[in-house]
Amino acid sequence: MSRRAWALPGLAAFLVLSFAVRAAPLLTGDFVQGGLVHGVTTPGTEVMLDGRNVPVSPSGGFVIGFRRDAPPEAHLVVGGEAQTLTIAKRDWPTRRVDGLPQETVTPDPEQLRRIAAETAEIRALREAPSREEFFAQTMIWPAHGPISGVFGSQSILNGVPRAPHIGFDIAAAAGTPVVAPAGGMVRMAKMLFLTGNTVLLDHGYGLFTSYAHLSRIDVAVGQRIAQSESIGAVGATGRVTGPHLHWGLEWFEVRLDPALVLPKLDAALSPASAGAATSTSPAARGSSPRSPD
Ligand SMILES: [Zn+2]
Repeated sequence: MSRRAWALPGLAAFLVLSFAVRAAPLLTGDFVQGGLVHGVTTPGTEVMLDGRNVPVSPSGGFVIGFRRDAPPEAHLVVGGEAQTLTIAKRDWPTRRVDGLPQETVTPDPEQLRRIAAETAEIRALREAPSREEFFAQTMIWPAHGPISGVFGSQSILNGVPRAPHIGFDIAAAAGTPVVAPAGGMVRMAKMLFLTGNTVLLDHGYGLFTSYAHLSRIDVAVGQRIAQSESIGAVGATGRVTGPHLHWGLEWFEVRLDPALVLPKLDAALSPASAGAATSTSPAARGSSPRSPD
């Protein structure tokens, strides 16, 4: 038998194997409540998560995320191949905040209308993500300072239980620079009732980050900015008791935990970790939740 006759079945087996390998998505990230996962598959493959269409970039990249109260299983379909993802449950601390201006804790009807309109506006933007391809960039810290609020904590504002805290608070001084943790397109840059001066960055394919309570906004809607470029400065606008950056990470309308995508704190490099150790409230220490005093 000629060498050629042997080579052909071998080549066919190799092609079948490589197709199978390429069709299975490569998934990396945190399979936990509030977690973000990056995927890579064959370009042009259709991806669905729990019945929702997941946009896939021309190079085959995509992102998916799991909400704070995600059930233990998620169902991913990639190119017709179904796969069950196990999503780990997390425990959430309780966060008590007193001394907020009462009008922002119990808004009047006119304020409620404004809040509803602003919420709808942001939701519409998040439902129409750009095809920018910044979503795969490894994020950097948008600002440095003590961590004063973690994702997922149950807020009790002026004694009244509220929706969980769905961002990450960095209690830097007013005026501290805020930079883009990854490249993105500015989709919103204006004053809102609850979040004060607010910027919404669109990193493409459903991944967004938001920045609240800024003292100053340095960007405009439609502007494309690179990683580490200035967004504005830390402030105390909107519903706050003091200056801090409220940083949000979202996949469409699903709120995710920004702490999971950040480079881990390095005590030698980050002043934030030293500050967090001494000034963070018990509620903000995610690993040891207990009732506030
Ligand atoms: Zn916050």
